[in-house]
Amino acid sequence: MNQVENVGLIDGYVDEPTVLGVPPYVSIYPRYVAGSIWTHSPCTQIHYQTIDQIRTSFEKAQHLWSKMDLLILIAGMIVPGKYIGGTPISVREARTLFSSPLLKDIPKILVGPWASFGCGIQGGKLALSSEALAPPFDYIIKGDPEIVLAQAFDPSIGLESVNLELTRESASEIETYTTRGAQIVTQYPGFSNKHIICEIETYRGCPRFLTGGCSFCVEPSYGIPQQRTVNAIVSEIESLYNLGVRAFRLGHQADLFTYGSQEIGEYEFPTPNVDAIENLFSKIRKVAPDLDVLHIDNVNPGTIARHPEESKKVAKSIMKYHTPGDVAAFGVESADPEVIRRNNLKGDAEEMIEAVRILNAVGGKRELRGLPHLLPGINLLYGLPGESKKTLEHNMNFLKQILDEGLIVRRINVRQVIGLQGTSLEHSSGKRIKRNQFFKHRQEIRDRIDIEMIKRVAPPGTIIQSVFLDAEDGNHHLLRQLGTYPLLCHMTKGSDERIPKDVFVVDHGPRSLTVLPFPFRPQKASLSQWKAIPGIGSKRATRIKATESLKSAKDITDALDMELPEWILNSLSFDK
Ligand code: SF4
Repeated sequence: MNQVENVGLIDGYVDEPTVLGVPPYVSIYPRYVAGSIWTHSPCTQIHYQTIDQIRTSFEKAQHLWSKMDLLILIAGMIVPGKYIGGTPISVREARTLFSSPLLKDIPKILVGPWASFGCGIQGGKLALSSEALAPPFDYIIKGDPEIVLAQAFDPSIGLESVNLELTRESASEIETYTTRGAQIVTQYPGFSNKHIICEIETYRGCPRFLTGGCSFCVEPSYGIPQQRTVNAIVSEIESLYNLGVRAFRLGHQADLFTYGSQEIGEYEFPTPNVDAIENLFSKIRKVAPDLDVLHIDNVNPGTIARHPEESKKVAKSIMKYHTPGDVAAFGVESADPEVIRRNNLKGDAEEMIEAVRILNAVGGKRELRGLPHLLPGINLLYGLPGESKKTLEHNMNFLKQILDEGLIVRRINVRQVIGLQGTSLEHSSGKRIKRNQFFKHRQEIRDRIDIEMIKRVAPPGTIIQSVFLDAEDGNHHLLRQLGTYPLLCHMTKGSDERIPKDVFVVDHGPRSLTVLPFPFRPQKASLSQWKAIPGIGSKRATRIKATESLKSAKDITDALDMELPEWILNSLSFDK
């Protein structure tokens, strides 16, 4: 390749089974790609932008790109999802943006899940072939972008001759890139106000590749899992932390509980290695003592059900070092025995419930009025072979049993599968139940299960710390914590527009919380904030707003003419 002075690196966002890269998450891709380029071409300037930044002015973006020597788009939603932090690039948008005549002489490269596994459009549909984007893209890297680009930047090989399907042979090949590329996060839009979570890889591939893994999943296609060393992971986190990043999620692996297991590669459900987890988490805290968020993501419930004692120890170890409000995402997918059998899922419904029980017993603890430390989240997937109307019944009974046993799950993801290249669903339509049946069933889960669950996760009075403004909705601020699967908090605006650091829960919707600022300052509260407290209503709220002297809890209960629960009284703070 000729001298490459300027590269435009565009993050169209990614979501795949083991990587999330939608704001505030930064996936591994921009970091590894930048690290690879800077290792082999240290003077190259990389201009990193997210698709949301570009949307503010396509013309401006294309004008900037026209001055680049190379353009790289990172893209790929291959897990269906809804996002509040950002809107992933669509296939149509990618085509339009990169087909501009201004860019006709600039090599354009597509990397990420779209390139490797096809373009997921929506749940319940087959993915489009990645070739659908060639043109406008000249090169579609089906292999690992950091490895392919390393060769492309080698003057003896170059972009024209490089094998676009090259993949890493061991995790050690990426380690120079992971630390070197950390610097790219300083260009991330949320970097300056610390609204950024770096997704961290601990291993790639799934131990269940031995039996082919789950029918819909791309992870087994990586073959024997490649584990990164503790020192490599810790060095990457240290580099990011030294730049100012304070939030991390160990989200990039099939099952965090099996990280470091010497049985990976030998057994489908390896025994967790408690010492490896303790070593990893303790070293992270040593290099990042003042981090704000340390969370995890995927955990195989089949591992917990088969290795309960080791799993409890692993959970305790994580809880010593992580930050509360953490979620272990359980890919249950289905409780229907026929679907489980035909798709080689991780275990039967009873094993899945046992995993929920085990994790609840250890991770359900909470500090004072905070969120539980480490709860399971449940993923259910629809459109799999073997699915029928009975699947809906099995899944609903499964969730009802969890509810009736008094267990807690942090969230239930109800999604439709995308048929991806390289999986056994590639040639399947994926449609098993009708779309309207799916939506009705999902709504039933929201109405009957979610609402009860969220009350258990965050009962009235729970304090949600360090919230960020996500969006405004009329008279409401939509707030969230920085962290894994953050709960959506609706807060009626107060008499000033400032966003409080902490909030406390006063009420619940099926998938969201109604909150007020914590501490709650009666003199500053707006009429609608008073009305948001259950039991107060319009008349009392109007009366208390008209009361001039609110200097004590007694003044408030007198003005309202009602007793207030402890959790409200304990949330009050009076201006002198
Ligand atoms: S257990 Fe199944 S869903 Fe999870 S990573 Fe392995 S193959 Fe994929």
